[in-house]
Amino acid sequence: MRALIDCHIHTELCGHARGTAEEYVAAARAAGLAAMVFTEHLPLPRDLDPKHHLSMRESDLACYCERVLDLRDRTPDIEIILGIEADWIPGHAEHAARTRDLAGRLGVEVVLGSVHFLGDWAFDDPNDIAAWDARDVDEVWLEYSRLWCDAARSGEFDVMAHPDLPKKFGHRPTFDPAPLYDEMARSAAASGCLIEISTAGLRKPVNELYPAQRFLETCFEHSVQVTVGSDAHAPDEVGFGWARAVEAARSAGYGRVGLPLGHGERRWYEL
Ligand code: ZN
Ligand code: FE
Ligand code: FE
Ligand code: ZN
Repeated sequence: MRALIDCHIHTELCGHARGTAEEYVAAARAAGLAAMVFTEHLPLPRDLDPKHHLSMRESDLACYCERVLDLRDRTPDIEIILGIEADWIPGHAEHAARTRDLAGRLGVEVVLGSVHFLGDWAFDDPNDIAAWDARDVDEVWLEYSRLWCDAARSGEFDVMAHPDLPKKFGHRPTFDPAPLYDEMARSAAASGCLIEISTAGLRKPVNELYPAQRFLETCFEHSVQVTVGSDAHAPDEVGFGWARAVEAARSAGYGRVGLPLGHGERRWYEL
């Protein structure tokens, strides 16, 4: 099955991915994509990313936007959307507002919302995995889902990315997460944001899609619409796992996936 859309794509600018935007477009063409959304990591506050290995430098933001917009002009066969992946980090609202505003003025249309940080800990960063040993896994899940719900309800995001990210390295709550899934789905429904079915988890120790199938079914029950993203950090990951994402979406009840176009608009693709 040929992939159709990919709403979550990085480039070498973030410091932990490889490949230029041009190379990702070439890969998208090879995969037969109709549309792709570039979502480079919006610059983080300096103290959270001092070595610039988690997000692009603020000085690269304008260049990133120019390159993607230029590529769009030169690529008639694939719809290219300029987006960013933005972190939800309480206590850094000013930084987020300033960089988001700057991105908007540079032409960014789609904002993917992510929770990667609990306090100043990037819990999904492989370089920081040892910090899990000092944590209560149940508490991590509860804190994460609270933050995620706040982000989803904020109305600041077109899409909420990789919804159950804490499972990345295999950390599972000891309790039944169904009530969390329910609250998260309600939060997404409240703002009308899309949920990303992310195939990145298939490349990680957890080896499953984000979100879990039960979580996805809960989203469907709450009429939350979905999109699909690979979270590509290398060109050959563009469109990765598309068939698995479609299978999960269909079996949860979905008949279509949405491409975020910005300003709350979507284009729907029947599955
Ligand atoms: Zn990344
Ligand atoms: Fe992310
Ligand atoms: Fe990402
Ligand atoms: Zn991501």
